[in-house]
Amino acid sequence: MSGGALRATGLAAAVIAGILASAFALGRSLVPERHPVDGSVATSTGAPHYADQPPSSDVPATPDTGRPGGGEAPSGPDESGPYGARTATGSARVALTFDDGPDPRWTPQVLALLDQYGVKATFCVVGENAESQPDLIRSIVAEGHTICNHSWRHDVDLGKRSPATIRADLLRTNDAILAAAPDARIAYYRQPGGAWTRPVASICAELGLVPLHWSVDPSDWKTPGPAVIEATVRAQTGPGAIVLMHDAGGDRSGTVTALQRLLPDLLARFQLEPMPTGAP
Ligand SMILES: [Zn+2]
Repeated sequence: MSGGALRATGLAAAVIAGILASAFALGRSLVPERHPVDGSVATSTGAPHYADQPPSSDVPATPDTGRPGGGEAPSGPDESGPYGARTATGSARVALTFDDGPDPRWTPQVLALLDQYGVKATFCVVGENAESQPDLIRSIVAEGHTICNHSWRHDVDLGKRSPATIRADLLRTNDAILAAAPDARIAYYRQPGGAWTRPVASICAELGLVPLHWSVDPSDWKTPGPAVIEATVRAQTGPGAIVLMHDAGGDRSGTVTALQRLLPDLLARFQLEPMPTGAP
């Protein structure tokens, strides 16, 4: 190979590396579900405190606009977020999603409120919690809510691991859900921290899981108080919104109180639906 060809090859490699680095930086900047560094707060149940799981140190402090951009998205601006993950329901209906459970203290309270208002939602469950709380998985499924895989132990860095590790994690989580509720239809995966990567997205495709992101994020895991959670959801929810809240990972009393106030308001403005699974 001539010196010119070598230089050209080197230049191409540098350009590609630069593109990859910017894409990675962009991906990190699209991560609104950040987690505080302090992992010392105990939960009410002694269960792992996912919401306090530290993030990668390179996550910038961007405002929670609830509207992740679509830098890597192949389709419409309101349908897809990072790596094509869904950020809209695809209709005017609104989906409420509850992450990190099931939790024996908070999940029953969320289920009771949803039942009181006749609302079906989507629960993004952590595999080890599904294994330890099979009755709650059964309740979620039996009450007509949609189940979403949220990884085995809320690994925000799962997307950086090998494809084999990612695949095994998602399958182990599906297995725990199905062990509890064999008729559960698991149609979605939500990456912890919203830290999507191309390998995670491609393994989702391989396993028939739709990557599920969100469009409204009140950061309830930071326990800002029910008024802030309520105001954020109330102000930011529009037709097709996917609202992110948490039924585990710390003190979720603020989320429960906010939900109680929000449900009548949201029902007056929107139809609420669980993310569709295609199940009959
Ligand atoms: Zn989570």
